[in-house]
Amino acid sequence: MATLAPDRISIDTIADKVYAGERITADDARFLYQHPNLLDLATLANHRRIQKTDPKVVTYIIGRILNYTNVCWVRCKFCAFYRTPNHVEGYLHSDEEILAKVQDTVDKGGVEILFQGGLNPKLKIDYYEGIFSKIKARFPEVILHALSPAEIIYIAHISKLTLTECLERLKAAGLHSIPGAGGEILVDRVRAVIAPYKDTTDEWLECMRAASALGIRSTASMMFGHVETIDDRIEHMGRIRDLQDECQPFRAFISWTFQPEDTNLPIPNKASSADYLRTVAVSRIFLDNFDNFQVSILTQGPKIAQTALAYGANDFGSVMIEENVVSAAGNKFILSAEEFERLICDAGYEPRRRNTRYEPL
Ligand code: SF4
Repeated sequence: MATLAPDRISIDTIADKVYAGERITADDARFLYQHPNLLDLATLANHRRIQKTDPKVVTYIIGRILNYTNVCWVRCKFCAFYRTPNHVEGYLHSDEEILAKVQDTVDKGGVEILFQGGLNPKLKIDYYEGIFSKIKARFPEVILHALSPAEIIYIAHISKLTLTECLERLKAAGLHSIPGAGGEILVDRVRAVIAPYKDTTDEWLECMRAASALGIRSTASMMFGHVETIDDRIEHMGRIRDLQDECQPFRAFISWTFQPEDTNLPIPNKASSADYLRTVAVSRIFLDNFDNFQVSILTQGPKIAQTALAYGANDFGSVMIEENVVSAAGNKFILSAEEFERLICDAGYEPRRRNTRYEPL
């Protein structure tokens, strides 16, 4: 099909594509970011959502973010969580502490451990094989949703393994899937400003590609509202959409706004709630090869999370028994399963508990 010149794009030409189940272009997405009527975006995003998921249902999971170490040499400017090697506040949980946290998660109905930390130079592949094997031996029912691409690339590097060898060994030890963390904005110009020592865009994507080839699935994320432009956000989504076309690595897309408190990235104005809702809607419309879109209660709070359900989101994310990374940057919206269910019902949907595979429990 011929592509309309940007000045011929209108909300009607985009709506025609959405109602026909067709893909929108980057220029269309740019138009949507400038379109004044947010409710038009909600209507289109909700239509995409209905094409993909049960319109009555909002899913959620019970899990724990287990930040096994905060030691990290990478020093991303947006991060308030890390402590550099040898810092007095650096920690590495003992195996016993980790297993006790997993036990506590299981006791509270949790099914997923999101095992994530910093790039700790003391931890090679044998550490991860050891702790994953212990967790799986004692809690075979728990799903290990673990490590960011940055961690995996670094573990491979210091263990002198190829990426695929590293992923194979992690999988054999119990790794089920990889969270999309560390994507931030997949544009190297932006990464050079906010995280100059971290993996590049191509390296992040290659890790997800290599994992997918081994049957390890992941999620994709976007942290916005810092130094990026709208074009950067659209380029980020374009890279994610292309990889999803290529090998379907992603089960869900999750976007959240940068929390500047206690970081080395001073941003005068945090992204607004309107910007968040617009971005949720544009991502749902643009990423037509994704089924699930998660709200970010942790950064937006319950009311905007409920509102985002009308902007294309269909998942409330995780009831977090523990979370340290976003909380370190100032936000503490941590709610119980009962509160999740009440919020979902009050917004007019049926809550449904799920596992990491998005299967109902
Ligand atoms: S975001 Fe991750 S890689 Fe960057 S400093 Fe924080 S812990 Fe380290």
